[in-house]
Amino acid sequence: MERRELGNTGLKLSCLGFGASPLGNVFGQVSPDAALSTVRRAFELGINFFDTSPYYGGTVSEMVLGNCLEALAVPRNDIVVSTKCGRYADGFDFSAERVTKSIDESLARLKLDYVDILHCHDIEFGSLDQIVNETIPALQKIKEAGKTRFIGITGLPLGVFTYVLDRVPPGSVDVILSYCHYGINDTALVDLLPYLKSKGVGVISASPLSMGLLTESGPPDWHPASAQLKSACRAAVDHCKKKGKNISKVALQYSLMNKEISTVLVGMNSPKQVEENTAAALELSNVGIDEELLHEVEAILQPIKNQTWPSGIQES
Ligand code: NAD
Repeated sequence: MERRELGNTGLKLSCLGFGASPLGNVFGQVSPDAALSTVRRAFELGINFFDTSPYYGGTVSEMVLGNCLEALAVPRNDIVVSTKCGRYADGFDFSAERVTKSIDESLARLKLDYVDILHCHDIEFGSLDQIVNETIPALQKIKEAGKTRFIGITGLPLGVFTYVLDRVPPGSVDVILSYCHYGINDTALVDLLPYLKSKGVGVISASPLSMGLLTESGPPDWHPASAQLKSACRAAVDHCKKKGKNISKVALQYSLMNKEISTVLVGMNSPKQVEENTAAALELSNVGIDEELLHEVEAILQPIKNQTWPSGIQES
């Protein structure tokens, strides 16, 4: 599995990262045994980056991931673990008090002494000035206390990243995590990459399958996309299926092609998905992408290119 450097952190991440939100049962039930065999297979096949949040499944994802890492006795230095703060099952709270408590709760659930990255989770739902003036300084203290090595921010609207990065002291935010903005249907993140590079900020891109839109089983009920976006993606899925191809493979490979993105986080809930996705990454390195299929899918998705959905409070 190819490793890529993450900004100025010195971390080397597998280009394919393990999104642990499915372990919180957000895309359907995952048994503890299935979770364990999925995480084991990921580690065996060279994935070293695991991302979770107290929000996923109302702390279930963190707990399950912690149990898996303990059961597998994975050497701590061989993995990069990120979690988040500020977004919880019962709402948002980016106050210094809450995030300071939150990291201790996360570490207990993950059974770790520290995480590698602590993100402020979906900052468009908070006051961005609070993120700049209160949350990031609180995370700096958490970093100084050795509970996280690096600090990140996550969100859907891309403008929140520049708003915060333009206002915090250089080097205080190491990483951004963007989702649903670098895949075949939406490549909006690409415009931000030169800016992020100039700031030395590492780039994690999540949801190359657009949270299920680019999968044969389709998106979950809670998916926020418009009916038009869902139906265009369904047409692309059906087109691939008719040709005997799996859309998820070409979609993931497309996201992996941009090397300025350090890692692409995919949510996985079975050893089969891990095997398919790692095989897709290897095939991309060895053979390249199926250009013909890619162009056909791009043409089907052209009418909804870069269509997204509202997220966050008005201010953002
Ligand atoms: P995704 O685009 O990775 O899609 C996940 C869905 O695709 C799941 O249903 C999964 O079972 C399915 N899938 C995975 N591989 C497949 C395959 N080979 N064939 C068919 N289906 C397959 O969306 P996601 O899980 O939301 O995003 C990935 C990860 O990124 C999350 O788990 C989370 O860790 C992170 N993330 C973070 C944020 C944030 O911080 N705001 C937002 C979104 C995602």
